[in-house]
Amino acid sequence: MIQTAQDMKTYRDRIHQALENKFLRKALDNFASSYKVSRAKAFEGIDLEALRHQLADGKDQALTHLESLFQQFKAKAEAAGAVVHLAATAEEANEIIARIASDNGVHAIIKSKSMTAEEIHLNDHLEAEGFKVTETDLGEWIIQLRHEGPSHMVMPAIHLSRHQVGGLFSDVTGKPVDLEDIDRMVKVARKELRPVFLAADMGVSGANFAIAETGTLGLITNEGNARLTTTLPRVHVALVGLEKLAPDLETALRILKILPKNATGQALTSYVTWITGAVECAASPTGRKNLHIVFLDNGRLELARDPVFSEALRCIRCGACSNVCPVYGKVGGHALGHVYIGAIGLILTYFYHGKDNARAIVHNCLNCQACKSVCPVNIDLPYLIKKVYENILKDEGARPAKNVLLSLVMKNRKLFHTMLRMASSLQKPMVKKDAAVLRHLPFVFGKTQEFRTLPAFAEKPFREQWPSLRPHIPNPSYRVALFGGCVVDFVSPEQAVSLVKLLTAHHVQMEYPMEQSCCGLPAMMMAETETAVEVAVQNLQALDSQAYDYILVLCASCGSHLKEGYSRLLASKPELAEKLRRMQSRLMDFSSFMVNVLKVTPDAFVQSHTEVAYHSPCHLCRGLGVTREPRELLGTAGLNYIPCADEDVCCGFGGSYSLEFPEISAEILRQKLDHVDATGAQVLVTDCPGCVLQLRGGMNKRGSSVQVRHIAEVVAANLKSL
Ligand code: SF4
Ligand code: SF4
Repeated sequence: MIQTAQDMKTYRDRIHQALENKFLRKALDNFASSYKVSRAKAFEGIDLEALRHQLADGKDQALTHLESLFQQFKAKAEAAGAVVHLAATAEEANEIIARIASDNGVHAIIKSKSMTAEEIHLNDHLEAEGFKVTETDLGEWIIQLRHEGPSHMVMPAIHLSRHQVGGLFSDVTGKPVDLEDIDRMVKVARKELRPVFLAADMGVSGANFAIAETGTLGLITNEGNARLTTTLPRVHVALVGLEKLAPDLETALRILKILPKNATGQALTSYVTWITGAVECAASPTGRKNLHIVFLDNGRLELARDPVFSEALRCIRCGACSNVCPVYGKVGGHALGHVYIGAIGLILTYFYHGKDNARAIVHNCLNCQACKSVCPVNIDLPYLIKKVYENILKDEGARPAKNVLLSLVMKNRKLFHTMLRMASSLQKPMVKKDAAVLRHLPFVFGKTQEFRTLPAFAEKPFREQWPSLRPHIPNPSYRVALFGGCVVDFVSPEQAVSLVKLLTAHHVQMEYPMEQSCCGLPAMMMAETETAVEVAVQNLQALDSQAYDYILVLCASCGSHLKEGYSRLLASKPELAEKLRRMQSRLMDFSSFMVNVLKVTPDAFVQSHTEVAYHSPCHLCRGLGVTREPRELLGTAGLNYIPCADEDVCCGFGGSYSLEFPEISAEILRQKLDHVDATGAQVLVTDCPGCVLQLRGGMNKRGSSVQVRHIAEVVAANLKSL
């Protein structure tokens, strides 16, 4: 039985254990690297975006009439000789399947891989009822022998080394197994499982599709075991989640076109099996298969009606959201999921396995958007994860003290800014001379933050420097407002000062609307939606007060939240729709403005050819979809950009995430800095002040001479004197 931590202390202990497993990290790293390459290759020449939209729309449509699709499927499948059941709950599904087994005098059951069967803990139930159940998918068999759950939805035993598997097989067979010879191990499994297939009375499978117009099941697999499971024994039970209902074959084939490519980077799986009705079966006394199809509701019908969460039911279980998740890559599926793993697991656990199992794991998200960017059915996974957290807080009826405090302070801009100024004064004894970092960490951070130096607050925030900095450009080419964000304003005002220099040189009038506050993303991350809405309204008022051609951001996270997050937050305020549209249509990141609007040219810059590596912030490359402009700008500004491995992988900051899960943040950061070091560049550039803090803190801590700079700073530094 799967044991998932239900409180943060136990969960942190689990995380520590997972991080100590060096094999796990190496295996997941290797897989993540090869997955990226093979996925890109598999989708070559395919309009993936169009396909994703088609798939998502098709799924959404089906979700609006699951009951009628079920009735249509039932009528067709039963006409073809199957018996179709509908189980309202996991318990009911278990009982139905156990009853089918006992009614048919079954003793031995074989199973092919099914996440739905994992969801209802089918094996535990059948074994408790006295049946012998054997998993026949290699990975599932291994974890069954180890009495543990899958650590990946597609590759359930990815967490195990060949030595562990070889040792296990030695124990099972009572014979030594060569721990280096994987082919031999596969043969051992085959030899052990063949007689089990032949002796089985009943096979249990899942299904990837249930096609309503024909009553057909579709299974896509890579091992031949599913074919054997569904054909050899006289009884076949297919357990299918209601969301697998598809209206027709065409819809199923669209999913088939994308699923293997997105799951493992394969053009197609080795086997695609279609089953319609009770076919001939030599082992059956009647000569025909005894086919039962058990559909599982377990909350799906209610979820399908939920205006926020229904999109989670689009999931086709490709597992890609784990493959690209930096957190999964460090701790694996046993620490990032309950039964369902990875980003979708953080959501489905709440609905299928209850808030107690979701309470701790739901915190473990950096909001890096990597999962969302690869999801073939466009599920906004990071957003739904935050909404699950919000639901849990509501269910429990108590908000953590830090949430209450954050909301109180953030709603009141003046109080918030006063507190930031006070923090700046109070930190003075701790600030390292001439370094803008803290000499030692305040006790509240204990030892957990020692993987990086922490920045000091600026002596004078940007908003206090602004009156003396404000340029007066006669007949400017553009009028722009800067949305600074808390870090630029109170920690790194030099980034905004660089912007002033660049804009002035290009004849642009900049303004800094003083009523602006924090963008509200930290409140969203802590599921304080009401506060996030209030802050969004304040900022909208502040940014709309004058006519600007553009609203610029130096912080990708603020920019992405203003652009995308505000649309969701303010959807229930139609009176603000026009203001919101106006703000969002003018919002632009720094690099895009320089490249696409100002169209800056090399003659404005000293061609220093300084070698720079680049980190692409999550909220810039995935949130705002900006990838070309920063790299182009570096070249135009006379810098020599050296490509670095995994530039678009998160740096591990994630705002408060790095305080809540410092060990994971440190590990992600370590890998990022190793990649940067490998380039040999002496400067690391990025376009998000939060990433600058994390990366600079990490470089400082390792005593590196690599300078970490915001892109506005390095570009401004190369500006030719006027
Ligand atoms: S947003 Fe990033 S950290 Fe969060 S679940 Fe998705 S991939 Fe993982
Ligand atoms: S949520 Fe999306 S990426 Fe994750 S398993 Fe489901 S379909 Fe695949």
